[in-house]
Amino acid sequence: MFELSIYVNFEAAHCLPDYPGKCRRLHGHNWRVEVSIEGSKLNDLGMLMDFSILKMEVMTVINVLDHQYLNEIYPFNEINPTAENIAKYIYEQLAAKSIFQSNPRLLAVKVWESPNSAVIYREV
Ligand SMILES: [Zn+2]
Repeated sequence: MFELSIYVNFEAAHCLPDYPGKCRRLHGHNWRVEVSIEGSKLNDLGMLMDFSILKMEVMTVINVLDHQYLNEIYPFNEINPTAENIAKYIYEQLAAKSIFQSNPRLLAVKVWESPNSAVIYREV
């Protein structure tokens, strides 16, 4: 089995209105996102998936979030834009793409809110 990962970054503001601390106030992060896929079958080039294709697919999701006030856009106008919810949102957007249905399969999305704090979302 092969596991392949790419990193991307995006910048966005958020606040957690009911949080009992300073995260209640509007602030921004340089979010770092790691997307991992897995599969056992390589293509004719010996690749699970071309890194650039994976990055392009991830960017279609990230571009929706980049330079936004997350609390104003779906689904974060309904649920708190925590690192947990952001990781799950990115995972679900990617998992819906036909390219990740079998080989390779989406494995996990890891979101760093800061260099020292990260969340991983996976479904298996
Ligand atoms: Zn924050």
